[in-house]
Amino acid sequence: MRYEGTVYRPPSEAGSLIIQLTIGCARNTCTFCAMYKDKNFRIRPLEDVVEDLQMAREYYSRIKVKRVFLADGDALIVKTADLLYILGKVKELFPECERISMYGAPKDILGKTPEELKTLKEAGLDMVYMGIESGDDEVLKFVKKGATQAEMIEAGKKIKDAGMILSVTLISGLGGRKYLKEHAINSAKVITEIKPEYVGFLTLLVEEGTPMYDQLKNGEIELLKPQEVLEEMKLFVSNVDSEGTVFRANHASNYIPLGGTFNRDKESLLAQITEAEKRNTFKSDYFRAL
Ligand code: SF4
Repeated sequence: MRYEGTVYRPPSEAGSLIIQLTIGCARNTCTFCAMYKDKNFRIRPLEDVVEDLQMAREYYSRIKVKRVFLADGDALIVKTADLLYILGKVKELFPECERISMYGAPKDILGKTPEELKTLKEAGLDMVYMGIESGDDEVLKFVKKGATQAEMIEAGKKIKDAGMILSVTLISGLGGRKYLKEHAINSAKVITEIKPEYVGFLTLLVEEGTPMYDQLKNGEIELLKPQEVLEEMKLFVSNVDSEGTVFRANHASNYIPLGGTFNRDKESLLAQITEAEKRNTFKSDYFRAL
């Protein structure tokens, strides 16, 4: 397999075979994101992708490849016919594969018809990861996410209606102190509307070189203190109503690890947050960045 630049994948794809179908992110506008700033977006020639799949099959000739993740940033931007071709090749070369997944940006999901998404599901695309980041329109605009709350909800529902598993991410503190309440309450609203299978929370870490780093220096955003991050999380958990959604906030960037299933574990999650507020000892930023 050949990889170009740093390859990012969701934590749950740690054991997956990763194949780059695209290079970079087609949008690359999000002010907080440093992931693909060094890559010019392009869709790889399909024959190169197939060659990589063949190389992987040879390399893993005695190993069962159960999961395949098609990178980079938003592979769902690829034309449906081409996606079907690649999904077919994955199935042909790795008949043992149980799950194929990729990132899907809201606009790319909305660019596909319900029938196209169903065809992709039937061809083996089992799971899509969508970065919501915030459910609040002001925050989404501020971070230049390129999608509104309504579009996030519509895109998420479309993936679920196609029968695929949907995993979404949100970012604690993304609206800074100014939008703490709106970010929490509207993010809970979006999750309540979509009811994804998985929701993961990261906590904002502002990296040098990103537009948000400059905004921070200029005072355009004020970062939340750990106690405020917990206040925001409490608001989110109190307001969300998403029966069966698996919730994880155990990424390195989070001040305290949290996890459970909504709505069953809401009370216990709130109790854990209250307990952490009382303890008032948090992971240092050095360890959050690791
Ligand atoms: S957060 Fe996602 S959509 Fe935004 S620039 Fe980064 S990879 Fe692209």
